[in-house]
Amino acid sequence: RGGFIMAGRHFLQIPGPSNTPDRILRAMDQPVPDHRGPGFGDIGAKSLEGMKKIFKTRQDVVIYPASGTGAWEAALVNTCSPGDKVLMYETGHFAFLWSNMAKRLGLDAEVIVGDWRHGADPVAIAERLSADKAREIKAVCVVHNETSTGSVTQIPQIRKAIDDLGHPALLMVDTISGLASIDFRFDEWGIDVAVTGSQKGLMLPPGLSFNAVGARAKEASKKATLPRSYWDWEEMKGPNEKGYFPYTPASLMLYGLNEAIDMLLEEGLDNVFDRHARLATAARAAVEHWGLEILCAEPGHRSNVLTAVMMPEGHSADRFRRITLEAFDMSLGNGLSKVADKVFRIGHLGDFNELMLMGTLSGVEMGLELAGVPHEKGGVMVAMRHLTGNGAAGANAA
Ligand code: PLP
Repeated sequence: RGGFIMAGRHFLQIPGPSNTPDRILRAMDQPVPDHRGPGFGDIGAKSLEGMKKIFKTRQDVVIYPASGTGAWEAALVNTCSPGDKVLMYETGHFAFLWSNMAKRLGLDAEVIVGDWRHGADPVAIAERLSADKAREIKAVCVVHNETSTGSVTQIPQIRKAIDDLGHPALLMVDTISGLASIDFRFDEWGIDVAVTGSQKGLMLPPGLSFNAVGARAKEASKKATLPRSYWDWEEMKGPNEKGYFPYTPASLMLYGLNEAIDMLLEEGLDNVFDRHARLATAARAAVEHWGLEILCAEPGHRSNVLTAVMMPEGHSADRFRRITLEAFDMSLGNGLSKVADKVFRIGHLGDFNELMLMGTLSGVEMGLELAGVPHEKGGVMVAMRHLTGNGAAGANAA
């Protein structure tokens, strides 16, 4: 909070970490258990099985006490060998970081650089794969929901591009900020490895990350020779079968995870996705009314997790965010690397509802005013109309 003393709740409206609901905090507020004791296997098994439902898979899920970056590394080191060619698509900052990691791990990462305003282009991927006559490309890596730009990649189109060419490359998907907020179907979409983290749609604090591992990826891991130890899927297998882990797991996070899984399944994943879509539509309507440009240029790629908003020429996004934080105790996401100070990001994900959105948008509109950013007043009213008009009323309306 930067040293400010403010009454009421801080508005954490960055696109992850998202707000952790009290129900999850209470579930985590327990004495630390014996992670090798007789009761713990049920906890671990519930987490591992529950995450399969969230990923929509019957394949294996692996859980690491690590941030999402760790599970990125796990996806690569378990499936690839030194010098392997991997094709990555730079949708934004996070896709760039993943490709950078691949290079540092000794992979030959070829990057298709996008304009940071769209999801990954299946045509560009198909063109590159079709030129790969020797079938050297071992994996195609894409980010499902690019958190730095608010753009979504249509994963089934990427799978189709690979399959239409009969190319054997694995499909690896970072859904760190997509899972449990927007539709994701590991099995149905034919994904080979998925990566996610705890601090976005799963509504937990940062600290857990996950791989979902398909049969072809498991097969590839038998031959892959990049050095791996901590991240090795094989190490997990035996202990995981009984709900245990080969090291000390983040046990209290697993209590929280089990509560999060219960909450998501009680609401129903489709309802969770609908809620995100409803709130995101209202947020985008407000931004458009303000006359500010949404970074994602293709309406069909716009994310229901966050909206990245471009600042008018000559105005600093970071100054606007600082003013908004100081005046209204709300954190908005900053622009990362290439778009630093040029965009701000409104997170509308996780444990989030209509009135939280209205508080958020009010904070943005007042912040724009205080920061002297030219805008058309009344975006908040437009969002309200979206939430009440045309049957778009909240999920609990009679
Ligand atoms: N990939 C995406 C899409 C992300 O949004 C993030 C974090 O925000 C990461 C990767 C990196 O995850 P972490 O910061 O948990 O290591």
